[in-house]
Amino acid sequence: MRIVLVGPPGAGKGTQAAYLAKNLSIPHISTGDLFRANISQGTPLGKRAKEFIDAGELVPDEVTIGMARERMAEPDAVNGFLLDGFPRNVAQAEALDAALKGDGVALDAVLDLEVPEDEVVKRIAGRRICRNDSAHVFHVTYNPPKTEGVCDVCGGELYQRADDSEETVRRRLEVYHTQTEPIIDHYRAQGLVVTISALGEVTEVTERAMAALKRGAAA
Ligand code: AMP
Repeated sequence: MRIVLVGPPGAGKGTQAAYLAKNLSIPHISTGDLFRANISQGTPLGKRAKEFIDAGELVPDEVTIGMARERMAEPDAVNGFLLDGFPRNVAQAEALDAALKGDGVALDAVLDLEVPEDEVVKRIAGRRICRNDSAHVFHVTYNPPKTEGVCDVCGGELYQRADDSEETVRRRLEVYHTQTEPIIDHYRAQGLVVTISALGEVTEVTERAMAALKRGAAA
C-alpha cells in the first residue's frame, strides 16, 4: 500500500506511522526524521534545513522533494510506503502525484488524523523523544517513562525537540492550517481521504486507522 499520513503537529503521526508501517509491512518514511538525521550528521542538507525547522517553517520544496523522492526510490519502498510529514503543501503533493504517475503507481489512501487544537498544544509541550529512535515517544503526563528521561524500550536518552517550544508550536500550527491543510482538499478531489479521530489510547487509534484504511481500500 501507498499511504500518506496527514494531521497537525502533535496528532501522533510519528507514533501511529510506526505501528501502521509495522502492521502493513511497509517502510515508514518521515521527512522530519530524515531532516533530523541530516542535522545530527552535520550534512549540508541538514545545515540548510535547520534554520527553517527551528523557526517552525517549512524547509523549501527544492530541498524537501528531492530528499523524499530519493528515499522513496530505495528498494524497500518499491511495493509501498507510509509517508509521514510529506507532502506538506500543494506543490509537494503535485510533485508526488507526478512522480508516482511516472512510476505507473498511485496512492491508496490519505489518512487524516484529527485532533482539537488545545489537545495538540498539551501533547507537544509534554512530548519526549528517544535519541536512538524517534518512534519511541513518551509524554511526561499521558505516557511517562518508568524512569524519568530514559526510554523504556531501549534505555536511550529522552529529549524535547527544539521545535516543540510553545512559540514554535504556535507557528507550526499556523503553517499547518495555511499550507498543509489544503492538501486534504487536493486529495479529497481524488477520493483518497479517510479521516479518523486521533483521540484516545495509542492502540485504539491504530485500530481505528487500520479499520479506516481497510474501508478506504475497499471503497
Ligand atoms: P515533523 O517531524 O514531521 O514534525 O517535521 C519537523 C519539521 O521538519 C517541520 O516543522 C518542518 O520544518 C520540517 N519538515 C518536515 N517535513 C517537511 C516537508 N514535507 N516540507 C517542508 N518541511 C518539512
